Amino acid sequence: MKPPKFDYHAPASIDEAVALLVRYGGDAKVLAGGQSLMPMLNFRLARPAALVDVNRIAALAYIREDNGTVAFGAVTRQRAIEFSPVVAARLPLLREATRWVGHLPIRSRGTIGGSIAHADPSAEYPAVLTALGGEVVVQGPRGRRTVKAADLFETYLTTTLAAEDLVVEVRLPAMPAGAGYAFEEFARRHGDFAIVGIAAMVVCAGDRCTTARLASAGAGPVPVRLRAAEEILERDGLGAAAIEAAAARAAELVQPDSDVHASADYRRHLTRVLTGRALRRALTVARG
Ligand SMILES: Cc1cc2nc3c(=O)[nH]c(=O)nc-3n(C[C@H](O)[C@H](O)[C@H](O)COP(=O)(O)OP(=O)(O)OC[C@H]3O[C@@H](n4cnc5c(N)ncnc54)[C@H](O)[C@@H]3O)c2cc1C
Repeated sequence: MKPPKFDYHAPASIDEAVALLVRYGGDAKVLAGGQSLMPMLNFRLARPAALVDVNRIAALAYIREDNGTVAFGAVTRQRAIEFSPVVAARLPLLREATRWVGHLPIRSRGTIGGSIAHADPSAEYPAVLTALGGEVVVQGPRGRRTVKAADLFETYLTTTLAAEDLVVEVRLPAMPAGAGYAFEEFARRHGDFAIVGIAAMVVCAGDRCTTARLASAGAGPVPVRLRAAEEILERDGLGAAAIEAAAARAAELVQPDSDVHASADYRRHLTRVLTGRALRRALTVARG
């Protein structure tokens, strides 16, 4: 299939891109890596009047660490994240999650901003953003604002952002030194979207767990921060019984739907199994 006709614009600045989105009154789409948008156009699932290609805006591609936060320009490629020394040192959970995103050619084009704006519930980046309590910086017709992960994802493939909003930056708090982490996922084939994925981070002090972060992908219309499961670990530590209790609680916290890939019950079962697996591996990492 070929895409329907559209106007094409390649602005050189963020202001110009937003002005174009405003000019089309909600009927233009941002083109980033095109790894999700182009298939949607080809299948005629989207018929925008125009594409606003942001790939030539140099100010949208960077990775910077500042004051305990790692900031990514929205058009930073997933491949750049996979090999960034800053990400390896400060956000190893994100690096591990990146290796689950499709295949190498997809990561060479796909962007962090596109993955988050696309809001596929099975995608890895939205789950990491949710687990670590990150945020996005958005520029719209009325200027810039920051939207926290918890306020961003509305339902399947839908965020709370307006059609005229451009994601310009994704911010994640750097992980504490010595934190354990794991991204566990089950997919039918390597490179497929997750049926369920779990992002986990733990910080240990002796037998205690001072901080736990858990979020799911693929177990409902949006990524879910599994706070009640985290609380079990922060109260009871990271022994086998506490991990099993947290995994069981995680499965109660998600509200998956059934689809052609898996039933809701199976996704709930996977949430329990993968949460336990992610926590055990995160604990091993934390203990060096
Ligand atoms: C075979 C295959 C396998 C894949 N497997 C996975 C996988 O396992 N996990 C995974 O997470 N992804 C997977 N993907 C998707 C891939 O990671 C995409 O890169 C990602 O979903 C979208 O990023 P993009 O930069 O390509 O965005 P695009 O495809 O260019 O855009 C996607 C959507 O986001 C909007 N958008 C993009 N950038 C912005 C912005 N800065 N501000 C506002 N809106 C914006 C677009 O308008 C569009 O609606 C796969 C893709 C393919 C083709």
